[in-house]
Amino acid sequence: MARYTGSVCKLCRREGEKLFLKGSRCYSDKCAIERRPYPPGQHGQRRSKISDYGIQLREKQKLKRLYGILERPMRNLFEKSSRMKGVTGENLLSLLERRFDNVVYKIGFAASRKEARQLVKHAHFTVNGKKANVPSMLLKTGDIVVLKTKSRSSSKLSGSFEANSMREVPSWLEIDQANFQGTVRDLPKREDITSQIVEHLIVELYTK
Ligand code: SF4
Repeated sequence: MARYTGSVCKLCRREGEKLFLKGSRCYSDKCAIERRPYPPGQHGQRRSKISDYGIQLREKQKLKRLYGILERPMRNLFEKSSRMKGVTGENLLSLLERRFDNVVYKIGFAASRKEARQLVKHAHFTVNGKKANVPSMLLKTGDIVVLKTKSRSSSKLSGSFEANSMREVPSWLEIDQANFQGTVRDLPKREDITSQIVEHLIVELYTK
């Protein structure tokens, strides 16, 4: 599948805020957006007027980049969210949070969503005791994600789990550090999602 392979820091600079795509570097003074807080490119420092459509487009791009997904899966999730009960934009955010790769990241097995996707693809986890290696899989209440026993011997993986335990854990997840596992206690709600996203702009764009 096609995937963006350029500098991820440029994506943050384009969106004008930290998207936390590079793990520990994002929390250090090496963060590119701290050093160069303007869009990349020759005309990055120019002020330009942005249309309503441009604002909606930027918001959608920001959300895609935050979760590291492409247009087709994003559109599919939007269609799904619009068929669900409740507010479409909030449903969309909740579905994105429930992606397997995002849950692995939030539990603290990885320093970034990109790293989490790699770990999932390399089948380092089970879900409810069964092999699972599809990053886009949507988890539900009661699902239990466990780092496989043989993967625990990797000092990189177990060390990273320990280091990431300092991060704040969302209330919809429960972490069992000793057993290398995380449980989905509840479906994520809008107030659980701390990223600065104005979801109604994305809904407006997709329903044009
Ligand atoms: Fe974004 Fe992280 Fe790069 Fe900073 S270090 S610009 S937060 S990806």
